[in-house]
Amino acid sequence: MPNAFAQFQPVVIKVGGSAGINYDLVCDDVAALVRDGQPVVLIHGGSDETNRISTALGKPPRTLVSAQGYTSRYTDAETLDIFAMVYAGKMNTRIVERLQKRGIDAVGLSGLDGRLLEGPRKTSVRAVENGRQILVRDDFTGKVERVNAGLLRLLIGAGYTPVVSPPACSNDGEAINVDGDRAAAAIAAALGARQLIILSNVPGLLRNFPDEASLIPAVRYSELEQALSFAEGRMKKKVLGASEAIAGGVEQVVFADARLEGPVRAAMAGRGTVISK
Ligand code: ADP
Repeated sequence: MPNAFAQFQPVVIKVGGSAGINYDLVCDDVAALVRDGQPVVLIHGGSDETNRISTALGKPPRTLVSAQGYTSRYTDAETLDIFAMVYAGKMNTRIVERLQKRGIDAVGLSGLDGRLLEGPRKTSVRAVENGRQILVRDDFTGKVERVNAGLLRLLIGAGYTPVVSPPACSNDGEAINVDGDRAAAAIAAALGARQLIILSNVPGLLRNFPDEASLIPAVRYSELEQALSFAEGRMKKKVLGASEAIAGGVEQVVFADARLEGPVRAAMAGRGTVISK
């Protein structure tokens, strides 16, 4: 691969893990971009598959809801094993395989590899269950505060396409579950990326979810607080991630649909919800 490759700013793409996402279409686009000399860092989710497999293993998923209404997966040690099997195992391997089939030399990494995604584990998590506050202590979740951007640059500079997945690495070196959208925001900011594309199974941020005709085409950074009021459940974390990315210097975040033909190119051209300063 030419060295000039390293001089381009990577585009950071997060593809979710909810039902309906078409990974073949996403990988078609990623491969085309990389072939055109545009480096890509791809981050992926795996929530739907993790729910399916954990239920099949007799450990159905449990969701924690914070007082502010943010939801997260309750991740005890056993759930973390299932989480890692699905995210860093099955999902990551199959995405790397898709890219290899398309002639792209992808390298799969979890946040533990090279301490790629690092941050504190929450010692305890406050949640609301049946209207009552509970304190959960055996939860392996946390927040990404540092990104090993040097490792990503090393790979990109050598012509590889990094495919990144949670878990992350706690400050003490433990595997922790972190939100993929916020991890992608941290990666985009750390790499000085101009654009962060967040693909999911919806056309973008909807004013009246699930009415797809109510798509909000553009949101200013200053309006994000208000945009948060439209977001329910897991969409709230995406809005939070977008806000962190813009605060970290990313020019544009696009929420877009991963079920369409050409999903990345459509998002890069502004189809979806475009968030900017
Ligand atoms: P992924 O796993 O693909 O990252 P999530 O499931 O975490 O995606 O978040 C996307 C989901 O957020 C949608 O499938 C939808 O159910 C939900 N959602 C809640 N409120 C909204 C909204 N206002 N606009 C769009 N999606 C929303």
